[in-house]
Amino acid sequence: MAEGNKQITGKQKRRWRLRRCNVQMLVITIVMLALLSSILIVRMQKLNETIAHLTAQVEMLSRLVEEERAQAANLREELQAAGRQDSFTAGKESEGQQAAQDQETKGEVQQTGQGIKDGVQQTAAQVTAMHKVYLTIDDGPSSVTQDILDILKQYGIKATFFVVGKDGETAKESLKQIVEDGHTLGMHSGTHNYTELYASIESFAEDLEAQRKYLYEVTGVTCDIYRFPGGSSNTVKTRAVDMADLAKYLDSQGIRFFDWNISSGDGSSVVLPVETLVENCTANISKYETSVILMHDSPLKSTTLEALPKIIEIIQGMEDTVILPITDETELVQHIKWQDEEQ
Ligand SMILES: [Zn+2]
Repeated sequence: MAEGNKQITGKQKRRWRLRRCNVQMLVITIVMLALLSSILIVRMQKLNETIAHLTAQVEMLSRLVEEERAQAANLREELQAAGRQDSFTAGKESEGQQAAQDQETKGEVQQTGQGIKDGVQQTAAQVTAMHKVYLTIDDGPSSVTQDILDILKQYGIKATFFVVGKDGETAKESLKQIVEDGHTLGMHSGTHNYTELYASIESFAEDLEAQRKYLYEVTGVTCDIYRFPGGSSNTVKTRAVDMADLAKYLDSQGIRFFDWNISSGDGSSVVLPVETLVENCTANISKYETSVILMHDSPLKSTTLEALPKIIEIIQGMEDTVILPITDETELVQHIKWQDEEQ
């Protein structure tokens, strides 16, 4: 009996051991399964995050591609607009386009280091700028024309020169240089003599024709923009003609005239301090979509030359603002309403 008991005990012990072993195996299996599951869950979460991240990137890239495409279209239009300057720059069209392309290329190179997104925003700002600024420089050519051209070149700026009828080799060289540099050439009368010019429509027409012919002979450009000496709103006492009639005459000749809505003030008889010129030229740009700034090309206006780089730098630093030469696309800025008076 005692032996039998021992045998049972031995058997039971073996069974228990076996059962304990099974339980241990089961526990280990469960723990391993749990571990595997949690690893899998973590991995799946990571994969989900990666997928979400990639999706966001794809969305951003397609947005960028779309923006780039829109800008490319805009740039093409700008280039075409630059090409249309041909009325001012007969025979210089390809050069003008080349200059525009050069400027764009330069812009693109500058952008490379700033990341695609910055670059995209910069180009878009240039093309669809809210504020267009036109620097117009009257009364040249003069002994300082070359200095003005150098500054404009240094800043990659194209301006508009409303010139008077000066002859002599230096003046001719300056006129050619204005055109070669891609600036817009406009007329500002041959004589700039108010009394003679505004004596009658005939005398005005004679002066206009002579100047147009002279500028064509020197530069190959047939000018089709004009700035009246004193502006269309001048109050010249000796004037014997109605400015509206002269405006209509210009229109009949296919010539558009431009006044200004911002004056540097350098036309005043006293030489203004640089700070005043800078303030005058830049203070109101944000108020206008089109700013036509009046300044003068004359050795007597000594501070204009000094103020010019500062003026350009401030405008270039303005948001959503570009400096352009006058073209066929430029919105007119005129002091008098001559078309309404016609009716
Ligand atoms: Zn003038």
